[in-house]
Amino acid sequence: MRWWSLLILAGLLAVLSAGMLVQTYLGTVAPAASWPEGERVWVVDPGHGGEDGGAVSVTGVPESQINLAIAKRLDALLGFYGENSYLMREEDISLHDQEAETLREKKVSDLHNRAETVQALEGAVLVSIHQNIFSQSQYHGSQVFYAPTQDSQALAESFQQAIQTNLQPDNSRQAKPIGDNVYLMNHVDCPAVLVECGFLSNPEEEAMLRQEGYQTKLAAVLAQVCLAS
Ligand SMILES: [Zn+2]
Repeated sequence: MRWWSLLILAGLLAVLSAGMLVQTYLGTVAPAASWPEGERVWVVDPGHGGEDGGAVSVTGVPESQINLAIAKRLDALLGFYGENSYLMREEDISLHDQEAETLREKKVSDLHNRAETVQALEGAVLVSIHQNIFSQSQYHGSQVFYAPTQDSQALAESFQQAIQTNLQPDNSRQAKPIGDNVYLMNHVDCPAVLVECGFLSNPEEEAMLRQEGYQTKLAAVLAQVCLAS
């Protein structure tokens, strides 16, 4: 991908995000399908949201906001290139049922709803966007994890390789199977990967992850793989 094309895409993304409708979550899980039956649908999932901000960065930014910024760009790019794409949330909100009261109940309900949404979409391929954190600040670099479902490992390896080739030449991390404690990734039947885009505990990487230009580059690298697979 040429660097000038990223500039054009950044402009396009600004237009697209300005036109996005305000999303109200009503507790229903099956999105109205606007794509032809039987076709592949990328489900772009910005991890966490609302009261569940996920990890907190070294400058106090919740992971949920950075996840959303990157996921919105990926969703827009996929749409721009004619792929079917469904963005799990368009705002920094939790997707829990209204009956959920405690934070714990909301988190559980949110994850159940996300899994149901994915399961309800025929042809879904899940790309969950997250950020990493560690107690020691020197660790950095994206790492991609895959669900124990068909085709997930190959997609994760393609993402990992593309990130290394295009964005992080010193990243020697390998794609790995997801742990069985990650609910969403273990409750879908479709191909599913989780991208830990970078470490919010590393000051240099955290600063980049907050930059719109870097968010667009990351999304563009992921989109490129989606288009090629
Ligand atoms: Zn997370």
